[in-house]
Amino acid sequence: MYDGIVQELIDEFGRLPGIGPKSAQRIAFHILQTPSFDVKRLAELLTEVRERVRFCEICGNVAEQERCAICRDPRRNTALICVVEDAKDVAAIERTREFRGLYHVLGGAISPIAGVGPDDLRIAQLMTRLADGTVQEVILATNPNLEGEATASYLSRLLVSMQITVSRLASGLPVGGDLEYADEVTLGRAFEGRRVL
Ligand SMILES: [Zn+2]
Repeated sequence: MYDGIVQELIDEFGRLPGIGPKSAQRIAFHILQTPSFDVKRLAELLTEVRERVRFCEICGNVAEQERCAICRDPRRNTALICVVEDAKDVAAIERTREFRGLYHVLGGAISPIAGVGPDDLRIAQLMTRLADGTVQEVILATNPNLEGEATASYLSRLLVSMQITVSRLASGLPVGGDLEYADEVTLGRAFEGRRVL
């Protein structure tokens, strides 16, 4: 324990996801002991990011305008939609450079334990996007764990009556893991080898 404000800073970092007490302490002391560390820039960025960043009105990805950079890009293939749980997954898939279609961010996965049902996800928005017949294939890229699989099978049942190809990323991704932790090569291969449901 430290006096006053130093401990407050450590506690604050400790509230961040994935940061334990040791890491929180290390970050706090790094900031305290590194004169070249630009505290002002970090503080400004934190404020700005809160003010400027919102979620794309079409796909739910992070955006600085009403539509994200991917939805605004005329070179993207509008016949393909890749459905992911989280905006972090969009970034992971973009890094593979395998996919040139559009995305749809659900905002989570179905999880009875966590009390998350289909209505809590952006599924109605997905159905609206599919209604005009532009989209020919929906790739279900939810995480390869229990919740992700449950969400994928829920969506595939929902989409079965539509004239749309529904596919799921190939296995080979670390089972039980998150898409965002898969390396680019593995994720790229999972895309190429996706199977039609
Ligand atoms: Zn978008």
